[in-house]
This record gives sequence, C-alpha cells and structure tokens, in this order.
Amino acid sequence: MDALHNQVFFPSTLPELFSAWARFPDAIPFAGGTELLRNQGRQILNLPRNILSLDQLDELHRITRTERYLEIGAMVKISDIIRLGKTVPEALTQSLSGIASPQVRNLITIGGNICNPFRRLDAAAPLIALDARYELRTGSETRWVSGSRFSALPGPLALNPQELLTRIRIPLEQWQYSVYKKFADQYPLDESGGGAVFMARIQKNILIDLRMVFAGQIVLRDKNSETVLVGKQLPLERRDAVHFTELWETFLQAMEIPGFMLRGKLFNFIRACILNLSD
Ligand SMILES: Cc1cc2nc3c(=O)[nH]c(=O)nc-3n(C[C@H](O)[C@H](O)[C@H](O)COP(=O)(O)OP(=O)(O)OC[C@H]3O[C@@H](n4cnc5c(N)ncnc54)[C@H](O)[C@@H]3O)c2cc1C
Repeated sequence: MDALHNQVFFPSTLPELFSAWARFPDAIPFAGGTELLRNQGRQILNLPRNILSLDQLDELHRITRTERYLEIGAMVKISDIIRLGKTVPEALTQSLSGIASPQVRNLITIGGNICNPFRRLDAAAPLIALDARYELRTGSETRWVSGSRFSALPGPLALNPQELLTRIRIPLEQWQYSVYKKFADQYPLDESGGGAVFMARIQKNILIDLRMVFAGQIVLRDKNSETVLVGKQLPLERRDAVHFTELWETFLQAMEIPGFMLRGKLFNFIRACILNLSD
C-alpha cells in the first residue's frame, strides 16, 4: 500500500525515479538542496513531504564533449563546471563564478540553478544567449527545449508535472568577446536583481554575431538589434555603435522593467560593451 508519506527516495536509475514519482506525484526533486533548505539554519527543517534525491543518478552527473557541443548533466555542481576551464564558453564561466562562495558553489547544481521555480538565476542569461537546449524527461518521453523557451517570463518554467531536467547541451561556438554583469542580486530576491550577458563573435575583424540577454524578474532580448551590426568591420564606426545603443534605448523604453534604476543600468552596460568594440 502506498499510503505512507514523508518518504525520501534515492533512485539510482531514471526508471526507478519515475516509478516512485508515479506513486507519489507530489514528490519534489532534490538536487543540491540550497533552495529547498534556504533560510532554515538553526531550526527544525521544513522539507517537502516526499523527496526524490537525484544524487545517485549517475547519468545526471556526466559531462561529455563533442566537436560541436558540451553536454552537462543536471546534477553537475557549479564549481565542477568552472573547473572545466576553457572548454566552457566564457560568458557562462563568468556568470557561474559570481555565484555565492566557493563552498556554496560546491553544493549548487546547474539543474537546480536553472529549475529554481521562484526566479531566473545566474545561469539563465548566458545559457539563453548561447542557444543552449535542455533535455527534459518524464517516465514515457524525452523532449528538448531551448533555454529561452524554458526560462521565458512571465509565467512558470516550461517544466511539466513529473518532468525532470536531465541534460544541458551548449553549442561550442567561439565567442571572442564576452561580458557578464550581475545587477544587484537575484538572491535573496531583489526586484532589480538579474544578470546580463553581451557576446560577440568576430572573424577576420568582421562582426559575425552579437547577443545581449538579461534575465532576472524579466527576460530581455532584442533580436532586431542583434542583426544590425552583423557583417561590419571592427573596430565599429562610432555612428554604428550609437545606432545600436539607440535601438536598445527604444526597446528598453517600450518594456516594463521592474526595480529601481534597472533600465538605466542596463542601458549603460550595453553602451559600454558596444563602445568597447568601436573606435
Ligand atoms: C548562500 C547562497 C547564495 C546563493 N547565491 C546565488 C547567486 O549569487 N546566484 C545564483 O544564481 N544563485 C544563488 N544561490 C541560489 C541557488 O543557485 C539556488 O538555490 C538553486 O536553485 C539551487 O540549486 P540546488 O542544486 O541547490 O537545487 P535544490 O535546492 O535541490 O532545488 C531547487 C529547485 O529546483 C528543482 N530541481 C532541481 N534539480 C532539478 C532537475 N534536474 N529537474 C527538475 N527540477 C529540479 C527542485 O525541485 C527545487 O524546486 C544561492 C544559494 C545560497 C544558499
């Protein structure tokens, strides 16, 4: 009989996990536990009624690399990703290196950071900008969604009931210029908290791709401004850089942006990044 509650499962295979989840549909995946145990120091822990520990699922701890992709299991710790060094796109390393302290980074998993139900955290913006895709599994099917669809706002994460994030696939293109900037803090919750990433691909002094994404209480990306400078020679002419900042200014004016001064801070960040690429 399955009437018992307050259970902690330690499945070592995905079929075991999904079978337990089918019997206890309210069970919550437990990764590094830093969100689930948040603010519970020096008190009796308040945990979800049923827990599915992901710790013993070997395939969620794997990291693989092909010529085109880096694939990271959802249970890989933030510190282990940083330790991979140059294999990891710089924008992602920069964002992960700014998370908490080295000790806490040894606990937080990339899957837990992406699947935080309350806010979009530091990994979100670079993964969206890098066109990362996430593998999501249930007991009966596997699907892939883009980071931008998964983390889109407003609304909850694109995670169905009893669906698990298992793998993150990151294209390994070379981004010659990458800057990640954290605005206030997403943790604890701050309206203007979030992170912005600005990346450029440059070949033979020609700008071939450009991305700017912010993720926090909102997710911002203006695909229109990403294309206007493609094909231009570097350093960019000043008027092209100014045109780019004007496009962003118009875009930001049209958006509802929460938090004190966030709009102005984002604009200054974008302007500084693009002026770095101009004469
Ligand atoms: C002191 C401290 C400082 C922090 N500072 C920062 C910071 O600067 N920047 C930042 O980005 N974050 C920061 N964090 C937050 C941390 O990234 C989040 O708490 C993150 O959600 C934790 O990941 P976790 O592996 O501990 O997940 P857990 O706490 O185990 O889980 C978090 C949520 O994700 C769900 N989940 C986990 N894995 C999966 C999966 N594979 N599939 C589906 N659902 C899943 C869980 O069910 C739960 O709802 C900080 C945390 C602490 C404790």
